[in-house]
Amino acid sequence: MSTTTAQSTQGSRQRTRSCATGLACHRCDRSWPLEDPVFSCPDCGKGLDIVYDYELAARHFAEVPATDRPENIWHFEELLPIVDARAQARVGQYSGYTPLIRADRLGAELGIENLYLKDDSAQRPSFSYKDRVVSMSIARLLEKGKTEIGCVSTGNVGTAVASLAAKAGVDAYVVYPSRLEATKARGVMALGAKVCQVEGNYDEANKRCREVAEATGMDFANITLRPFYAEGAKTAAFEIVEQLGWHSPEHIVSPAAGGTLSSRMHKGLGELQLMGLAETSATAIHIAQPSGCNPIASAILAEEAEVVPVMPETAAHSLAIGAPGDGYLVIDAVLERGGTAAFASDPEIFAGIDLLAASEGLLTEPAGGTTIAVLEKLAAAGRFGSDETVVAMITGNGMKTLDDHPPKPWPEKVECEREAMAAALEALKDTERLMDAARRQLQA
Ligand SMILES: [Zn+2]
Repeated sequence: MSTTTAQSTQGSRQRTRSCATGLACHRCDRSWPLEDPVFSCPDCGKGLDIVYDYELAARHFAEVPATDRPENIWHFEELLPIVDARAQARVGQYSGYTPLIRADRLGAELGIENLYLKDDSAQRPSFSYKDRVVSMSIARLLEKGKTEIGCVSTGNVGTAVASLAAKAGVDAYVVYPSRLEATKARGVMALGAKVCQVEGNYDEANKRCREVAEATGMDFANITLRPFYAEGAKTAAFEIVEQLGWHSPEHIVSPAAGGTLSSRMHKGLGELQLMGLAETSATAIHIAQPSGCNPIASAILAEEAEVVPVMPETAAHSLAIGAPGDGYLVIDAVLERGGTAAFASDPEIFAGIDLLAASEGLLTEPAGGTTIAVLEKLAAAGRFGSDETVVAMITGNGMKTLDDHPPKPWPEKVECEREAMAAALEALKDTERLMDAARRQLQA
């Protein structure tokens, strides 16, 4: 009976407990009302941030116990920008609250005593961290009363938009650059989104989509709705701290492409501190990039304040963003938190995928392989103390990218007969184990 009452109250409420108060430029002093469609600063060109009333958020947060909150991306709705409860109810009810896995076997391989994986490869509905951010974009689209959404994608944003738009009942259009992971694109079409394939790389497509958005009025999940989109990434940080019993880890290692995830986890950790929910100031954020597309990592290692764009050339397509929009925010996040950056070559990235698979039974995509390869380097360099907790972000699922992984040799067929099969299995015992192959590759 109480469940029915709770649901009908939930369903009939008009406003969420969001304490968002407006939009502001990261660099200038300018601000705008939350309803304003502005998404970048007309003065300096930087993206906009959402600002909140944290005193109010702390009071609201205390009123509703954790057990009465949904275990999804709306768990911390006070610190999210969606105010229309009906829009919120239509998106992301099964997104978020991914497992935080204690990785004992991988930790033993790398010499990290307290290692955890935030497993967004198990994210719903589309198996990557992008479900968190795209949910915010689509909820915002519904708040605006619109019925079409576009996006430009290296792969995972597209699948998240296709899935979440279908569930929300809006039409999805996905713009793909030339280099893409084919399985992801096929998945998008299988989910009913319309695909526009363009010549040119992600950065070029992104720039043109912005012009298309201005010319046609179509909203783009990761362009015109970007201030809202980005806020979804904070939920990963909130969940990690709560899942560790309100203890913030000493280290978070995150892959970086456009820079949204690491910069907004930094913001989210700061918000938990401001609200008195956890002591988060000692948490370092380290970022991982592929050697073939490492503009943010290079800027951090060279102690530059701005990112110099590069031309991506990497097998980690989901990290192939050469002109990362939030790059300067990542630099701030890493430096303020005493973190660092490192990068991994394509062979190291695939060795990272194999090491995670062999030790923890998780198949991740090249972005996750980049994180594991960099985790190995940071551990080898002595970055992690023996009593410190380390969380590595696994942002995407390898089932979507298998076609892009280096093929493992496929065995010859044997007769379907007892002796031949027993002999074949005996011979397989002498072939190299995945763990050994991964270690060999990482040390090559
Ligand atoms: Zn500005």
